Amino acid sequence: MQWEIVVGLETHVQLATRSKMFSDASTAFGAAPNTQASFVDLALPGVLPVANRAAVECALRFGLAVGAQVARRSVFARKNYFYPDLPKGYQISQFEIPVVSGGALQVLWSEGDAKAGGADGKDGTREPQRTKQREGMRESFVRLVRAHLEEDAGKSLHEDFHGMTGIDLNRAGTALLEIVTEPDMRSAREAAAYARTLHALVVWLGICDGNLQEGSFRCDANVSVRPMGQAALGTRCEIKNLNSFRFLERAIEHEAARQVELISDGGRVVQETRLYDPERDETRSMRGKEDAHDYRYFPDPDLPPLEIDGAWIERVRATMPELPAAMRDRFAQTYGLSAYDAATLTASRGVAGYYEAVLRALPAGAPAAATPLAKAAANWVMGELAAALNRDQRAIEDCPVAPEQLARLVVRIDDGTISGKTARDVFADLWGGQARDADAVDRIVDAKGLRQMSDAGELERIVDEVIADNARSVEEFRAGREKAFNALVGQVMKATRGKANPQQVNELLRRRLQ
Ligand code: ADP
Ligand code: MG
Repeated sequence: MQWEIVVGLETHVQLATRSKMFSDASTAFGAAPNTQASFVDLALPGVLPVANRAAVECALRFGLAVGAQVARRSVFARKNYFYPDLPKGYQISQFEIPVVSGGALQVLWSEGDAKAGGADGKDGTREPQRTKQREGMRESFVRLVRAHLEEDAGKSLHEDFHGMTGIDLNRAGTALLEIVTEPDMRSAREAAAYARTLHALVVWLGICDGNLQEGSFRCDANVSVRPMGQAALGTRCEIKNLNSFRFLERAIEHEAARQVELISDGGRVVQETRLYDPERDETRSMRGKEDAHDYRYFPDPDLPPLEIDGAWIERVRATMPELPAAMRDRFAQTYGLSAYDAATLTASRGVAGYYEAVLRALPAGAPAAATPLAKAAANWVMGELAAALNRDQRAIEDCPVAPEQLARLVVRIDDGTISGKTARDVFADLWGGQARDADAVDRIVDAKGLRQMSDAGELERIVDEVIADNARSVEEFRAGREKAFNALVGQVMKATRGKANPQQVNELLRRRLQ
């Protein structure tokens, strides 16, 4: 029997506001316990919450970015439950009328070599308009149900407390945007790709710091399986609090496999909340799924409805940056890059901005059209530069090589002044140096004598010398051994200290030997 995996994700995005959702306490991470909790966060009697305008604007930015509807009037509701880190006994959230509803996220991904789960791609049940092939990659449209504003709860600290548990309310009241998808994803890999795309988008929009370790972005995965071709959805389980894309993918794979095995053995899936344990690489039951009614949602009488007028929406729209998907398509079309390259270069606003700054610094004046230089610059940004940033754990905003310098480097390879190999050495020098000007490239080339030999007469002389000094290799080459030819090329390169153009050496040597 062929099984299909169905996944819907709920993501908690911690909004990058300085103060909390309903109080003026600071949201800075890492302060001593309970030093950033105001009377409101502590739920003292008589306090009143006030909605944070900046948090509402974050929700607005998100809604506009995903083509959703922004409610002119939405309602804050109390979600009642008891928990030690929730002193009010309820969390303020949105229920019947969320601030944002609908919209979709365009996700470009590749199946890679990981198990795609189910028979992704081969099935006839998948709605064809939501995923299609695009230059060897897949493009999905994941529909969003809603995005609503809410406050976070506090934290229980179990460590080093004389055998007791401590409560830290610093996080209590922090603004969250909960983003809920339709059950549109059909594999663990697709779900992880969605999460990565969403993460990149909220960071791009400046509404989240994106810090996964600090819990600024965490996903709950709803997973079910069904026999291929069946229209009705299977019973789902929800895996809570996944804050790594890799764990998200593995947890979904495991959960789906568990459900398939259970059903195949004649059992049935019970709807419940499960936890993923990365150490054991398995999910286990946490609690039975409470019914929505159990939260006794009702409109919060302390908060007026959230009203957003058209003028506010237009003001926010005017500050929206070009979005990653639009920029990716523009890069592909304008600069002649592949979908993959364009996607890599628009993974973050920083990288995209850097790349365009390199293009602007090219002599042609650049972002005009697809040129070999645009492709060469893309290769440098995605290759050598990305590797160096990664190695030194530096952000692109903090890159020691200026875009103008990288542009000059690309030009110097193109005009034959230096070889691609030498350029890597120059790049390493730029990386370690202080200079920010483009001329630093030429200074390094000259100071180290790295200029490729352009004097044909001098190269001819060296080639003749090498032929005279390596009679054996010459003989072997004439006897038909191509290896001997390579040895001779090596000798010439060595004699020129790597400064000859290898192609020129090849041609010259062959001509002389014949
Ligand atoms: P709740 O509010 O009880 O968590 P929702 O109906 O709002 O339930 O759904 C929560 C998430 O679960 C959504 O992302 C939705 O797409 C997903 N989902 C719902 N049914 C299924 C299912 N059968 N299989 C997988 N995901 C599902
Ligand atoms: Mg849920």
